[in-house]
Amino acid sequence: MTQETLSFQAEVSKLLDIVVHSLYSDRQIFLRELISNASDACDKLRYEGLTQPALLEGDGEFKISLSVDREAGTLTIADNGIGMNRQDLIDNLGTIARSGTQAFSEALKAQTEKKSGDVSLIGQFGVGFYSAFMVADSVSVATRKAGETEGWTWVSDGKGAFTIEETEGVARGASITLHMREDAKDFLEEFKLRNIVKTYSDHIAIPVEFTAPPKEGEEEKGPERLNEASALWTRPRDQITTEQYTEFYHHVSHGFDEPWHVLHYRAEGVLEYTGLMFVPGQKPFDLFTPERKPRVKLYVNRVFITDDCEELLPSYLRFVRGIVDSSDLPLNVSREMLQDDPRLRKIKGGLTKRLLDDLSKRAKDDEEGYLTFWENFGAVLKEGIYEDFERKDDLLKMARFRTTASDKPVSLETVVGRMKEGQTALYYVTGDDASALARSPQVEGFVARGVEVLLLTDPIDEFWVGAVPSFMDKPLKSVAQAGQDLDTLPLEDDAKEAESKEESTPAEEGKIDGLIARLKVALGDAVADVKVSKRLTGSPVCLVAKDGAMSLHLQKLMRQANQDSPMPSDRVLEINTKHAVIKALADRAAGDGEGVDDAAHLLLDQARILEGELPTDPVTFAKRLTDAMGKGLV
Ligand code: ADP
Ligand code: MG
Repeated sequence: MTQETLSFQAEVSKLLDIVVHSLYSDRQIFLRELISNASDACDKLRYEGLTQPALLEGDGEFKISLSVDREAGTLTIADNGIGMNRQDLIDNLGTIARSGTQAFSEALKAQTEKKSGDVSLIGQFGVGFYSAFMVADSVSVATRKAGETEGWTWVSDGKGAFTIEETEGVARGASITLHMREDAKDFLEEFKLRNIVKTYSDHIAIPVEFTAPPKEGEEEKGPERLNEASALWTRPRDQITTEQYTEFYHHVSHGFDEPWHVLHYRAEGVLEYTGLMFVPGQKPFDLFTPERKPRVKLYVNRVFITDDCEELLPSYLRFVRGIVDSSDLPLNVSREMLQDDPRLRKIKGGLTKRLLDDLSKRAKDDEEGYLTFWENFGAVLKEGIYEDFERKDDLLKMARFRTTASDKPVSLETVVGRMKEGQTALYYVTGDDASALARSPQVEGFVARGVEVLLLTDPIDEFWVGAVPSFMDKPLKSVAQAGQDLDTLPLEDDAKEAESKEESTPAEEGKIDGLIARLKVALGDAVADVKVSKRLTGSPVCLVAKDGAMSLHLQKLMRQANQDSPMPSDRVLEINTKHAVIKALADRAAGDGEGVDDAAHLLLDQARILEGELPTDPVTFAKRLTDAMGKGLV
């Protein structure tokens, strides 16, 4: 038989390097990972066996066996699950099999930049198997795939390459043998293994057995079971400890964090099922991948069916991890059949309702704690506002927003509760950065009138605001479209209010008209129009979208998504006719007109900078600015 040597995918090599240099402080989790893989392999074969009983080869008693050889210094984890063939070995134990190499490389890069090993993040990328190299200087896998005749041995020292060789007489399933590192020999101790299995793998539904090596002069003892081997979710809630829940969460999420919320319930009645769901305590990396897939495992009568069932939760709850076990679905349900199953739709409705109810309740009971959840997952949950028409209102109530009056996110109900007298709508502004928005010219007219403005900074906000005409009967309006609303609300500062009420003389109006005409000529195509502003109180100018056009922020998002799209020119420059600079410019325009054109460009560039853009021509901008400063200083 020939032995082939193959290289690990580059990402795997990098990963192994991190793993071996002890990224994980908690090395004992290697055992949880290998047992979890063995259990997955048994689950898979049990499922395949439902439709192809021949695959079971007469052995449907699944188990996982641990054994040690002290002399050789090895620990073996063997299962009689689905096993792997040559190609499986290459695909699964030579590449990053799970969540996509791209997300992984990004995380890795972030990690290298920070120079710190944030364990919780790496755990999410399916590095499970490779964690064996934390404790072993060499790992061998003897395996035969169910239904196939050739067996294989895979061997690696985790340094860039592995070998594969066809092998006679390998049992179905996989047997992973770890040649323990000198500093990890204590993992060969029976009490230690016992402890780890009890702590980490008690909930595994498949028996984990341990065969102790015979002591001198003693008979060999038979295998002994180490775990409870009953599916955790089938036990009554009051018999499950917090630690057990957390451990199970780690099992389904591949994470290391504490779950922020646990929902465990049994639905009875027309449709019976059990749900055990977790809201993570930390934000996973892959929340915003294009698939936006929910990740809940489906079981039928404790038999694992799939972890790729999009019908179990809406995608705006894709941060939730957990399992659903139903006795009402047929065991031989195919993954395709699940696509449009009315029972699944019912379960989805039930799960969604329970989760949202629980989240709302937590918001009521502990607003502070809820905000940590909101920081992590609010941007995802908000997708539901326009995707789930039925629950739009519930989701709006659950949403929290930064506003011009509050650094800490608050609910819409709170904002409605403190609306100004005479205020008829809820106002929002969209952009990238809350604190910049709070100080932007767009909102200063509102702030000066004591009107609270929602600061919407998640890209998703641009999309749902369009789908929500009102909340608690208050229309939701963009500040960009609400200039005239301000006429009816007084400024908080009485002197300014009196000033703003002063009528302009016909002569002053004439000058302003002249200035506007002059600005239009000077700026040409760079703006669609120049207008008198109602929204400005402290700044001389600002840029707004033309009525009915996309907001400037949305235009910017589109440009980011599609680099080629040109800068729009259909924007309006608004001027504040009460501002000293504008008044002086109006006088200049009516007089010799000197410097008006340069000032027009400076004002426009300044408005651009406030929108997060660059001046069109930075060199000219700098020159104009220097000249203007020179006039003031010299
Ligand atoms: P994950 O379990 O998250 O998929 P792992 O790194 O733990 O990632 O395992 C990678 C893949 O290797 C698994 O998805 C599975 O296909 C395969 N594998 C690992 N262990 C076994 C095993 N004991 N039996 C069969 N396949 C296995
Ligand atoms: Mg795994």
